[in-house]
Amino acid sequence: MSDETRPRRQLRLGSLAAALTATLALLCCTGGAGAFFLTELGGESANGMTLANQDCKEDTQVNIVGEMPRIPQYGERQLRNAARIIKVGQEMKVSPRGWVIAVATALQESRLLNLANRTVSESETIPNEGIGADHDSVGLFQQRASWGSVTQRMTPEYAARKFYEKLVRVPGWETMPLSRAAQAVQISAFPDAYAKHEDVAARIVSALAGGAARITLAGGKQTCDSAAEGQIAASGWTAPIPGGVGSGFRTADRPAHNGVDIAAPKGTDIRVAATGRVLVAHCDPDNRGGRTCDVDGWPNKGGCGWFVDVLHAGGFVTRYCHMVSKPRVNVGQLVEAGVVIGEVGSSGNSSGPHLHYEVHKDEDRSSRGAIDPVPFMRSRGAPLKGAG
Ligand SMILES: [Zn+2]
Repeated sequence: MSDETRPRRQLRLGSLAAALTATLALLCCTGGAGAFFLTELGGESANGMTLANQDCKEDTQVNIVGEMPRIPQYGERQLRNAARIIKVGQEMKVSPRGWVIAVATALQESRLLNLANRTVSESETIPNEGIGADHDSVGLFQQRASWGSVTQRMTPEYAARKFYEKLVRVPGWETMPLSRAAQAVQISAFPDAYAKHEDVAARIVSALAGGAARITLAGGKQTCDSAAEGQIAASGWTAPIPGGVGSGFRTADRPAHNGVDIAAPKGTDIRVAATGRVLVAHCDPDNRGGRTCDVDGWPNKGGCGWFVDVLHAGGFVTRYCHMVSKPRVNVGQLVEAGVVIGEVGSSGNSSGPHLHYEVHKDEDRSSRGAIDPVPFMRSRGAPLKGAG
């Protein structure tokens, strides 16, 4: 199968993000639902390949003593606090998705530091890792007085237990977007801020607990590297379609092929690989500037047909090309991981029905930002089938 992978018009993401954020700010203040800012989504710069070599085991017990793994920008105290949070989750038999949500929440609330509060004098007499000043909140999760005594809330294990107790009572928490699950527990004034930490939280959980962010819970069973057909790995990712990878990323005979081709029958549902914000959803012009995406294309026609770009936490962008008809989503829309955004087709520069799938890092939609989707998706617990 062949296709042209470069959409012709490269939008400047920065200006697009600014425009969308302005729009969303308006939406946010009238309704509040789904506000999930682009600037925050991309704010946590990440090395996409950090997890690639991490094995996944379903039953790794976290270790809270001894040496901590290294994660750029986070120190040993922060990693040890994350390990304590995960350990409580393991003791309470909360699935790894809950550990990711808890670590992301503590990243937002305290940067994973056990904070005292300068307006709560008792808190400053308790060993702490910094001083905050938000209301009467203290500790890793910035819990207020109704959550327990000052000493209790500044005990990481107690604070984590209280968080999980509330989380597991939220209906559907295991599959809802991280920001919604975290907000249901924390009731924060800034609910969207949790989402931006999802990727680094997944990396921390995997580093501390044997690749646990790659675990998917389905039918009460936890399995590594199996998130597909709408099931979501603890990392928040799922495979976009069930088929196997044919033509690969930047192969010797196709060095400019910036994604992978996954063969599938026309009409197969394409699911967005992680929660995010739609950046593009339109018909890509062909080599002659035509916008004829409702018919099957051909090799050398040019363009990626009906396509969608989505921005995710950690600054990753996913691209879905050659859809059979107009995408089911619109620019600016928040899409939850696993939701169907269109169907497989052969529009644009394509010789037969397939999904051309790309992953980009650092919010860079150009070919420079493209990374190999195969190791990336494996590292997120949502491997593409038939990919070695
Ligand atoms: Zn392709």
